[in-house]
Amino acid sequence: MELNITRIKQDFDGILQFNQTPEKGWTRFSFSEEDKMARDYLIGELKKLGVAVGVDGIGNIRAKYGSNLNQPSIMIGSHIDTVKHGGRFDGLTGVLVALEMIRVFKEENIQLNRPIELICFSEEEGSNFGITMLGSKAITGKLTVEDLKEIKNPEGVSAYELAKGFGLEVDQLPAQILKQNEIDSMIELHIEQGAVLEHNGKSVGIVEAISGMSTYKITLKGDSNHAGTTPMEYRSDPMVGAAEIIASIQKAAKHRALPTTVATVGKIKAEPNVPNIIPQQVEFYVDIRDVQKKGIELVSMELEDMTKQVANEHRLTAIIEKIGSSEPVKLSSRLIKKMEECVQANNSEAIKLNSGAVHDVAMLKDVAEIGMVFIPSLAGKSHCPEEYTDFQDIKLGGDFLLNVVYTLATETQKV
Ligand SMILES: [Zn+2]
Repeated sequence: MELNITRIKQDFDGILQFNQTPEKGWTRFSFSEEDKMARDYLIGELKKLGVAVGVDGIGNIRAKYGSNLNQPSIMIGSHIDTVKHGGRFDGLTGVLVALEMIRVFKEENIQLNRPIELICFSEEEGSNFGITMLGSKAITGKLTVEDLKEIKNPEGVSAYELAKGFGLEVDQLPAQILKQNEIDSMIELHIEQGAVLEHNGKSVGIVEAISGMSTYKITLKGDSNHAGTTPMEYRSDPMVGAAEIIASIQKAAKHRALPTTVATVGKIKAEPNVPNIIPQQVEFYVDIRDVQKKGIELVSMELEDMTKQVANEHRLTAIIEKIGSSEPVKLSSRLIKKMEECVQANNSEAIKLNSGAVHDVAMLKDVAEIGMVFIPSLAGKSHCPEEYTDFQDIKLGGDFLLNVVYTLATETQKV
């Protein structure tokens, strides 16, 4: 039993034609015209297979295949929305592999003890509202209808209004929240968005854990003054303070935290941001991630200490705000074991690795056993037009997942 890569390629073509920014990568925001057309394509293909398709109040598409539809399902899928000027493979690959898998199960007339359920999560990238994984958060009750009324896009339109305008029955959401035992397992196949698989020359990765993160906003206030007339010893320069802190964060993550810890400063703003004026204020954001909480804590502590020390030394006022955090998530050891058994049984190859990015599947950790399969991203690039995954790797990763799902859906007893 194997996936038909020609059909998967056709599905890619079928959906990639719906693009808000031709010539500039692929842009397909949730609730856009292009999203509507992509959804119609996907739903059309599922209906051809005779699969009943449901769409919930936030736009998650769910389609169950099999005979014992009341049994907890083995869920597979991902998302089809993109960032602005994104790539072809992020999210879409997982959904199209899931679609093809249902085709194969139907074609081969496989008898399943548990249904296979395709899910396509809505608004994963946060492209509209700056909040990621809206669909998986709403379906697990982490975002309520009231929350959706408060979440607004830059034009001031709420997620509630946008979804409603898209034809969704948002008020139905409370009844659609995933219940315990509704889903047995959820496995998301996704491109790695990193280069570990490529560096190891492997096509399939079994994900062990998903990184947690803490995000801080640091504001340093000093004394703005003339760049030419203010002697060095009289300065309270927040830019110098920021530079010292930023350099120390890199060293803390690299040398004093854990081997898995990463920390980044990707955004900085100076005021008044003029070449010949000592800035009045500098603010920057620190993103710290690790699959172990300890690593995040170590860098966070150092960031706080260093900020206080630097503020003191340079006579600055420092404000440290924690603006976001999520816990690391360990994926189901039972599913990891099943995956390893599949690797052995098929004499194939896979490595175990971690995910530095959070994915929809992590939101389901309290209602199902969760697992993740990675396939390579060329040079680790993602969220850009250069994002590329070889179709041969999609086939290898997809066939691997097919075997795992087959095992889970056909075993008579859960072991
Ligand atoms: Zn994604």
